[in-house]
Amino acid sequence: MTNKIMLIITENCNMNCVYCYEHKKNNSTMPFEVSVSIVESHLQQIKQGDKWTVCFFGGEPFLNFSLIERIDEYIQKQHPVHYKTLEYSLITNGTVFNSKIKNGSSIIKI
Ligand code: SF4
Repeated sequence: MTNKIMLIITENCNMNCVYCYEHKKNNSTMPFEVSVSIVESHLQQIKQGDKWTVCFFGGEPFLNFSLIERIDEYIQKQHPVHYKTLEYSLITNGTVFNSKIKNGSSIIKI
């Protein structure tokens, strides 16, 4: 079993690459409740102490950074033991990453 889950948190993107895999860009975002239910389902399958990864994907996931922060806050509060072994990854085009995101978030480490 993989200890990695991928959350497609937005279908929106600020770019229009010709090779893009996201053919139906739109303003849809993953509801918080859906992301939490995926996390909860995954956590039922892993043991405490196991390393696990949540990967944020889109579209451009930084366009929905508020959801990333909500998910982080939720896991930190509801699953403090699992939180210690959690790593995040994020697939981004890098164009909307800014100092507000970098400096305002405790989860960004570059
Ligand atoms: S940055 Fe990624 S999601 Fe956005 S248009 Fe390009 S390939 Fe598609």
